[in-house]
Amino acid sequence: MTVSGPEFVEIYDTTLRDGEQAPGISLNTGEKIEIADQLARLGVDVIEAGYPVASPGDFEAVEAISRRLQETTISVIARTHREDIEVAGKALADAARSRILVFGSVSDIQIEHQLRTTRDAVKEAVRDSIAFAGEHCDEVEYGLMDSTRGDLEFLAELIQIALDEGAVGITLADTVGYALPWEYGGLIEKLHEMVPDLHGVIVGAHCHDDLGLAVANSIAALVAGARRVQCTLNGIGERAGNASLEEIVMALHTRRAEVDLDTHVTTRELVPTSRLVASKTGFPVPPNKAIVGANAFAHESGIHQDGVLKERTTYEIMDATTVGFESNSIVLGKHSGRHAFRKALEDIGIEAEGETLELAFNRFKQAADDKKAITEDDLVAMVSDSGKED
Ligand code: MN
Repeated sequence: MTVSGPEFVEIYDTTLRDGEQAPGISLNTGEKIEIADQLARLGVDVIEAGYPVASPGDFEAVEAISRRLQETTISVIARTHREDIEVAGKALADAARSRILVFGSVSDIQIEHQLRTTRDAVKEAVRDSIAFAGEHCDEVEYGLMDSTRGDLEFLAELIQIALDEGAVGITLADTVGYALPWEYGGLIEKLHEMVPDLHGVIVGAHCHDDLGLAVANSIAALVAGARRVQCTLNGIGERAGNASLEEIVMALHTRRAEVDLDTHVTTRELVPTSRLVASKTGFPVPPNKAIVGANAFAHESGIHQDGVLKERTTYEIMDATTVGFESNSIVLGKHSGRHAFRKALEDIGIEAEGETLELAFNRFKQAADDKKAITEDDLVAMVSDSGKED
């Protein structure tokens, strides 16, 4: 008898690497350690702690996090250069479980115009670096940069080389956020057909949000057979950012019956982690941000408030407490109805009925047209004023 259940997706967090690459963000080692500790509490499978060859600060942070978090896989990136890989290996020396993601451009645009080299030279670099990386860490991944603008046959050749050299993971990066969900899913399916050995390793997604499709593309990749997603808290990252961790995790969690996939993430740590990342990076979370925004579980319109007060699931697909909020919220504003207004009064110990309630509600509607926020003091005044008019 086989016991079936959802398959688990590896959550590979790159907040400390690609997230930190967001223009305007710079984290010192102390801040990175604080975030890494919280990522471990959140339950991500892999923490990408930095790019050790990029700066002494990155090296130091990777070293410190590797020493500290012995329960989580610590990963770093390195180009297909031996010197990058040696430095990566040194930074990871104390990690209990270390990974190097060896990456390089695979699209002709980047090979010709940026690297100014040839496809053959790229193949040689991959052949030369994967097994070498294997001598410097526990697990080697090969990351194909700009894979979504690359030639399919060439990608298949590169992947086969990396697998022959011992890579245990392949990541197909949509580095410039160009792919559409069905294309990205199709790419992963086609490569599985073209390179049968790919079935023996974990394929990963790495998506950017240039077209606002990073999360949709990541989910499409998982449905097509990928089992790892690289993502960041609050979707921070280079340019428009990376795929947002909290959105991917909650999409899988909320639609598990449809996707049959799950993660090891402790979802109620999502809001605390998001807040920590926002405060350390200085990048605030917009109120309308999915999952972790201040308005993500707030209801203002009368029809929605009425529904939620009667039965939460009428207008909520997730419970606010599941992601780490204390509760959902009913926000009093110009679109609110009597039901929510009376509930707000009850919450502060005021029972209003009949004419008193009507008068107070009319005053509230007038006030809400002029003011953005209605406070408790405003509510008290509305009821007592309406009493006086009798
Ligand atoms: Mn990236």
